[in-house]
Amino acid sequence: MLAILKDFLLNLFFILAPIFVVPLWLEERNVPKQLKKHILTFSFAITTLLCMAFPIGTDTEHIYDLHQIPLWLGGLYRGAFVSFLLCALAIGYHMLLGEGGWIITVLSSLVIMFVSIVLSKYFLSLSAKQRILLAFVLSALSGMLTVILDEMAFASLPFWSSYLVIQPLSMAVACYLKEMLYKNSSLRKQIIRAEKMEVVSHLAASISHEVRNPLTAARGFMQLLEQSHLSLEKRKQYIQIAIEELDRAESIITDYLTFAKPAPECVEKLNVKTEIERVIDLLRPLANMNSVEIQSSLIPFHVKGEREKFQQCLLNIMKNSIEAMPNGGTLDVYVSIEHDQILIRISDTGIGMTKEQIDRLGEPYFTTKGTKGTGLGMMVVYRIVESMDGTIHITSEVNKGTTVCIYFPIAQLNRSEAINKKKNVLFI
Ligand code: ADP
Ligand code: MG
Repeated sequence: MLAILKDFLLNLFFILAPIFVVPLWLEERNVPKQLKKHILTFSFAITTLLCMAFPIGTDTEHIYDLHQIPLWLGGLYRGAFVSFLLCALAIGYHMLLGEGGWIITVLSSLVIMFVSIVLSKYFLSLSAKQRILLAFVLSALSGMLTVILDEMAFASLPFWSSYLVIQPLSMAVACYLKEMLYKNSSLRKQIIRAEKMEVVSHLAASISHEVRNPLTAARGFMQLLEQSHLSLEKRKQYIQIAIEELDRAESIITDYLTFAKPAPECVEKLNVKTEIERVIDLLRPLANMNSVEIQSSLIPFHVKGEREKFQQCLLNIMKNSIEAMPNGGTLDVYVSIEHDQILIRISDTGIGMTKEQIDRLGEPYFTTKGTKGTGLGMMVVYRIVESMDGTIHITSEVNKGTTVCIYFPIAQLNRSEAINKKKNVLFI
């Protein structure tokens, strides 16, 4: 009995790998979407084989294992190709072993494949609860089919309770965990989006203020042009100034819209210098409003990540810095290489934080800004830095200022290039 329980738990562990362990591991890493899909398909395939290689019980005539669960899950969640692959693997493995009952595996696997391919689209359109229920029912039905085939072939039903009870229950548990994980990760994405919208709406006020200045200037010069006694040279000069002012307004609006509009999720090589410059441009109106001077010393190293998220991470940190200096100050952004990693150091001369406040940073809804703050900015920062394999260190002194250091791995392809660049910089 104990041995059977052990085998069963081992099978269950194999099943949890592609639906829980691997996706969780992948989420923490910056794996491209396509590669993610391949890894998941591969892990489903390995799980199917492992379930069959370590069956529950040792009766050679009646091999019982939970391999039908990855067949169902793979087919229903991941579509026709995965379903076909898993079915072929299950049949191939059983036939290769040459043990009795292979015809049962062939028939049941084929039925599961066809049903899951037909139902896959409908299955994915259901709510989480309905999906768990349907998966439970389908796995019970395929269990029942196996028992009937077994009865017809061998006229004995040693594992009927396993097929009819343990298999559907395990399926429901596996499906429940998958849905929970999905819900959690989509919730996290929603928080990041919501925080971005919050930042966007905060910036809107300072941006509109900043746009108004060049527009007013352009309007003034247009009015001057109306006067007829102006010389041709003066006219040209005024028109030039008006055009420059309008261009400035346009570039501010373009920066803002580029950040505000959603971009596709795609991991790419990002130039740290360019990205920081964009964020600084975006924040300049807010800095001007708070009389904050922005200083920067940037070097074009490369990191790997999603552009939109990387910008948002920098923006959240710098915005906090500017907000910590309501009466003006200096925001310093510095990039260099330390211990073979890219260091981005953002320091301000603001109000600083106590040790307790530093410890609470990243906690959701921790804010000292009352209704003006969301308390989500730093949480999002931690999440993004972690997803880019980076680390973050914060030091702060009350009334002196805060320094945030973020370390990122150098993007692989550009490692030597980046080190060369650093050498060049040192020589300069
Ligand atoms: P919010 O900015 O909405 O309050 P955050 O998560 O961005 O939320 O920041 C949480 C808190 O951390 C802030 O309310 C502030 O008290 C503190 N904080 C963050 N960055 C700084 C900084 N550079 N200087 C001083 N305090 C800071
Ligand atoms: Mg903030």
